[in-house]
Amino acid sequence: MAAAERGGADLIHIDVMDGRFVPPITMGPLVVESLRRVTRLPFDVHLMVVEPERQVDAFIDAGAARIAVHVEAAAHLHRLLAHLRARGVAPVVALNPATPPEAVRWALAEADGILVMSVNPGYAGQRFIPQSLDKLRILRATLQETGRPITLAVDGGIDETTAGLAVSAGARILVAANAIFGGAEGIEAAISRLRQAAEAAVP
Ligand code: ZN
Repeated sequence: MAAAERGGADLIHIDVMDGRFVPPITMGPLVVESLRRVTRLPFDVHLMVVEPERQVDAFIDAGAARIAVHVEAAAHLHRLLAHLRARGVAPVVALNPATPPEAVRWALAEADGILVMSVNPGYAGQRFIPQSLDKLRILRATLQETGRPITLAVDGGIDETTAGLAVSAGARILVAANAIFGGAEGIEAAISRLRQAAEAAVP
């Protein structure tokens, strides 16, 4: 995380998996709280959990700045997003690859961000699903219509090539793991190359 910070990362994205919404289990609020002491970067916590309304407060208390909840997991999405905002964190809605962009339409008034999953959540190192670009474009058009300043993020299979494509389609937050932590060139160099690829695609 220190190397990511030196390399110019803007956020630390933390994938929380519960073994139910997705098969693997990763980490809980105690680990997030421990990580909070080693970096100043804001924490972008992505909850891949069932019944996220039962978990959000623990992650807010652990130091999250943004929290993404899945539209597929939140029975009362609008209320949950409003709760996140009331507790002072940025509310973000996450969409699985098979979920249509229209699924967030009536919760947009309560959201600061949308996280488009460009792989099926659960495992690192998967290939970018190209239809995610269409979803980003549709969401960008919806946001232009509503006039809400909502940030589009994309998560999964982001590398130097897909970063530029995602930015061109409207993404302004890129989540990457393998492209940063999986190569031989080192974390700092990998982040700066990804950032260059992304910035070159900004219109
Ligand atoms: Zn994620």
